[in-house]
This record gives sequence, C-alpha cells and structure tokens, in this order.
Amino acid sequence: MDGLRKLPLEAPERISGITELAFNMWWSWHPEARALFKRLSRPAWKLSGHNPVKMLGEIDKGVLEEAAGDAEFLAHYDQVMEKFQKEMKDAGRGWFADNVCDPNALPVVFFSAEYGLHHSLPFYAGGLGFLAGDFLKESSDLGMPVTAIGFMYPEGYLRQKIPVNGWQESLDEPLDRASAAISRVLDSSGKPLLVKVPFIEPPIHVEVWKIEVGRISLYLIDTDIEANDPWNRSISAHLYIGNLEQRLRQEIVLGIGGREVLDTMGMKHSVLHLNEGHPAFAITERIRERVAEGMSFENALRQVKETTIFTTHTPVPAGTDVFPFALMEKYFSSYWPALGLDREGFFKLGMNPEDPGAGFNMTVFALKCSSHRNGVSKRHGQVARRIWHSLWPDRPEDKVPIGHVTNGIHVPTWIEPKMDLLFNRYLGENWKAAHDRPETWEAVRDIPDKELWNTHYWLKMKLIMRIMERARQRWIEDRPEAQIILGEGVMLDPNALTIGFARRFASYKRASLILRDAERLKRILNDKWRPVQIIFAGKAHPADDPAKHILQQVFNSGKDPAFGGRIAFVEEYDEQLAQYLVHGVDLWLNNPLPPLEASGTSGMKAALNGVPSLSILDGWWIEGFNGKNGWAFGEEPGRQDTTTRPDRDADDAEAIYRLLEQQIVPLYYHINGEGISTGWVRVMKEAIISAAAQFSARRMVKEYASNYYAKCLLAVKG
Ligand SMILES: *Cc1c(COP(=O)(O)O)cnc(C)c1O
Repeated sequence: MDGLRKLPLEAPERISGITELAFNMWWSWHPEARALFKRLSRPAWKLSGHNPVKMLGEIDKGVLEEAAGDAEFLAHYDQVMEKFQKEMKDAGRGWFADNVCDPNALPVVFFSAEYGLHHSLPFYAGGLGFLAGDFLKESSDLGMPVTAIGFMYPEGYLRQKIPVNGWQESLDEPLDRASAAISRVLDSSGKPLLVKVPFIEPPIHVEVWKIEVGRISLYLIDTDIEANDPWNRSISAHLYIGNLEQRLRQEIVLGIGGREVLDTMGMKHSVLHLNEGHPAFAITERIRERVAEGMSFENALRQVKETTIFTTHTPVPAGTDVFPFALMEKYFSSYWPALGLDREGFFKLGMNPEDPGAGFNMTVFALKCSSHRNGVSKRHGQVARRIWHSLWPDRPEDKVPIGHVTNGIHVPTWIEPKMDLLFNRYLGENWKAAHDRPETWEAVRDIPDKELWNTHYWLKMKLIMRIMERARQRWIEDRPEAQIILGEGVMLDPNALTIGFARRFASYKRASLILRDAERLKRILNDKWRPVQIIFAGKAHPADDPAKHILQQVFNSGKDPAFGGRIAFVEEYDEQLAQYLVHGVDLWLNNPLPPLEASGTSGMKAALNGVPSLSILDGWWIEGFNGKNGWAFGEEPGRQDTTTRPDRDADDAEAIYRLLEQQIVPLYYHINGEGISTGWVRVMKEAIISAAAQFSARRMVKEYASNYYAKCLLAVKG
C-alpha cells in the first residue's frame, strides 16, 4: 500500500544512495550531509537554494560521474551514508525504547496544520510550524514512534514584495512539486492513492504525499487534484484561509480526512497528539469508530480522551477558530447521529460557556475531548488556566487541568555550522548526544573570548553580506528605485551594535514599538562613536491590515535619512533568512504585548548561537532570563493581564531605550586592547549556557513522552 513515487533522480551506482539521502530531510540537520551536497558542486548547491532534490535534478551528469571516481568524495560519502543508514535501520532503538516504552507499540500520531522543516518545503507560516517541524526531527533523533499528518499547500506560499510606499504586497508562489523532497503515496496498483473524506457531500477527495524526516514519516494531504471540482481543489491552496466556510472545510479535511488517510494506509496508532485546535476533528473520528463498534458515546469519549493530547499554542483570540452553528449544521448534520448525539449534544462539545452563542469553538472542543492538555510555557499554562477556567467552573483556577510543556528548538537544526565546530572543540566531540544536559554547556566558559567573538563576528559579516547581496539582486532584477534599496540594508555596518527583530507581523508583537519615540531612537542609533542599527524582517498576514500598517511604518523608517541608514527592513522572511539573523545579529529584540506571546522560540535560536535577548518578560523569557544572560523588562508582579492598559506601549518603549542607553550600548562598546568587550562576551556565553539545554526540543520531546505519552500508552494497555 505504502508505495512511493519519487523523482527519477539518477546517480552512478557507486553513489546511488545520494538520491535516497536527498529525499530524507535528515540531511538538513546533519552538517556533514549538507557538506556532501555542497562538495558535489558549490554553484549548483547555491543555485538550488540548498535543496538537494532540486540540485540533483538539475546538475550535469558529468559532475556525478566525476564524484563517483573521486576518492576524497567517496570517503566523505561513505561516512555520511553509513551514519544515515545505521540510524534508519535502528528504527526501534534510542531513548524512547530505553525509557518510555516498547517502540514497537503503536505510534503516536501527530496532527498539525503547518510544518516548518526547511525553506524548500514551504508549508509553514510561523512559530507553530517550526515547533511541529522541530518536534518531528527530535522524535526521529530519540527513536520515538511518531507518524505525522498535515497539509500540502500547493499554491500558497506567501512571497513578500514591498513597493516604494511600504504597503506589503503578497504573491503566491506555486510549489514546484518536482523539486521538493516529497514523494507521492501510491495504492497497490501503483496509482496515486485516492482517499474520500467520509461524510462530506458532495464528496471531497484527497491524494497523499510523504516527507521523510529521519525515521519519521510526515503525510501531507493534497486536495488540488483532478477528482475535485475547483472549490474543493482550493481547500488546501493556502494556509489559514480567511473565508470561514473554506476554513471549516480545511479543518474537516485535515482532521476527518487525515484519520481516513491513516486508516486507508493501514496505519494504526495508539495516541493522538493535536498541535493546536485546527485538526481537532480527528477526535470525532476516533469516537465515531468506537460508536460504530457498538460503544456508547460516553464510553467512547472516555476512552478517546485518555489517549488524546491537546497542545494549545496561543492566548490570542484570532488564533482560535469559532465556526457559526449554521455552518456546522451544514456539514455535520449527517455526522452527529453517527456519534450517537443529537444537534444539541454535538454543539455543546464546542460551546464556550462564556460566549455560548458564538459558535463551535475548536479550542473548547479539543479541551473537552482530551485528558491531556498543555500550554507551551509556564506562563502560558497559567494564562490558559485562566482563559479556560469556565470549562471547569467548580475548580479553583490553579486546579484547571491544563499543564504546560515549555517549547524548545531542535538544536542540530538551529546551530550554525561554525558554532557547531567551535563547540566540538571545547565541549568534546560528543556534546550533541548530551545536549539536553545543562552540565554539557558549562564548558562554554572555557572558550577563549577571542575565539567566540571572532566566530560571532564572522557570522555577522556573513549576515550582512547576504543582505547586501539580496539587495543587489533586487536592484538588478526589478527595482532600481534607490530609495528602497537603501532601506534594505546596503548601509549596514559590521562594527555597529546590531539588533535583530524578525517574526510574523501580528499586531500583538508590536514590531514598531521601538520607533515610538523617534527622537530618542535617533539619538541612540546615530551616536557617532557608539552606533546602533536594527534589522527588521517579517511578513504580515495578507488579510491583516493593521499589521500591514505596522510593517509600513517600520519599512518607511528604513528609508528616512533621519535614522541615519541605521534601520533596515529585509524582505521575504523565511527559514533561511531566520537562520542568518539568529546567527548573525548581536542582540535579539522581542516586545510582544504580555501575556499574548505563548512562548516565542526565535530568542531560543539566537541564544543557542550566543546572541542574547532584550525581551519583555512574557512567554519563554520568564523562565529563560536569569539576570546574566540578556536583558528583561516589563515585569508586573500581580498583574497578569495588562493588554488593556493604555500607557503600556509608552512604558515598554521607555524601558527599551533606558536599557539600551544605560546598559547595553555601554557594555557592547567597552572594548579592550584586542577590540573585544569581555563583558559582552560574558553575556553571550551565559546566553548559550542557560538556554541551550533547557530550551532544546530534546528536553521538550522527552517531557511530552514522559508526562503524557507514557500515561496514554498505559491507558491503551489497561
Ligand atoms: C522560529 C521562527 C519563528 C517563530 O518565532 P517567534 O519567536 O515565535 O515569533 C517564526 N518564523 C520563522 C521563520 C522561524 O524560524
């Protein structure tokens, strides 16, 4: 059943494994595998945008033949392939088998609307997606049996283009399926597997693609197929479609269709993990299957709950889908009888007691139908218990059954290769195997200041050169309007203290906060001897006009000579640009409106590479900040919800200016005879030491496995 059709990539017999390697994202977090592709042909690697499938499809055959006869290349190839194949064969081994349970137990199935694995697989919008991608990579590393389900968005990766007026335009870039590391899932007769989504009339059909993420399989549902009419074809066209009905249909296809896809492929699983509420209809399918076997709804729900984990990722209302009851009726009137429920009983499952008429709330539904629920940081756990208190009205707030697992990042993915080499030298060759043990990182103190600083400076140069090259390309290609190019970073100075701010431009993230008092900021940026510059990047959701206004303001500030060319806005924030930024800036700025940042992960990526944060105390930074590893502001003991306070922006901006003026700038420029600020390097080291283990995806995945999956698996056996 699980046949696959891959691109007909060809390589000489001696190195034929290289095509297999290209189709497994394992290469993306193993520097030696990346280096192998690069070694094959540097220009082709670059031209492909670091995408081996594309590269092997386009490369001259002679290059491969030459490599197959080159002893040095072959030695490198053999070493990589041995490691890769050994890991793939050891599917049942690793931390999970040793510590949690028999890995031959039925796997956990992980549902998410987005996955951020690499920029060549653009199925993500932001942090939620990268969390899911990092989760899969780490599950592979730990030998945890996970199968993942998501969407293929064939039409809809949002490319960002900003004209001279600063008002973001977005273009869709259709996915080139032939040069992505995806393979079509085939049925037993060798044709593309076609699955009909149950209960939906007129019918919706889906096809399925597979991405290999180390030892983990990620299946992507595709509605853009011949068998569907145009309306159905476009269900999976874009991430988070604005039209409510199409959004509902999207979630039906993901949850209900996703379950059907697994079933059709004969893939059983024991535990369901929902990453956010979008795929929550997978729960109704689990219940329906049990009811069909004769179980009562109540018993079926009880059983399903025990083995379902729901992770909520946001306290922002726009992050929660609420579907009007009339719309729900249209799609579910033939469904609820199959659950043994009437209209009332079904709607009640998604009713928010605080606003019962609003419609079917996917977060409420997921919370009610899972026994294991968590927020994504300690603070977010508290906030979620408060927001959803009314679902458990007879308990005190602190006993609301929502816990937390603080997010973490996949260390091998987010560490810069040069930093990786530096750590190899000072932490011992095996540090990666023990990277979630805080002791591992103590040895960072032994790295000579000069070496850490030089490595960082090299990465900063790399970032700036990269930004200039992008600006140059744009200038050649389509926009000789010098004004824009100036704002895109051609005036960046590698010796100036460089602040990075890059994330989705959702309003609550307050990208323009630092511009609030323009005069004060100008004085900070334009200091002749101690200049400061800011690099911004990020996309606004195309339907979010307030966010586009913020983006415009930031963008225009880059073109305003009064800021001295010290503000740059870099277009087209994606995984690749994120990597350059978190590796290469000096300071990572984060100033969302508390308590709306559930966790935030970009600051963790920066810290791992020795880039400290200047961040408001919200999300992960409440746990991460220790007084030595960066700077914090905005603490309000006893006041959790400060979103509505009118002077909040002014206070927070003031705190940022004060920290910059009084602490950060003086420390950065307090340099010794060798041109190094030892005080600054100390903060860099503390950032690495305090964050690398604690905010690793390894620590996070282990917590999910020990605190939740282990209990679920017991329930399965019991
Ligand atoms: C890590 C990452 C994010 C998440 O950033 P936040 O700090 O959560 O805002 C978003 N986009 C990209 C490309 C990332 O790599």
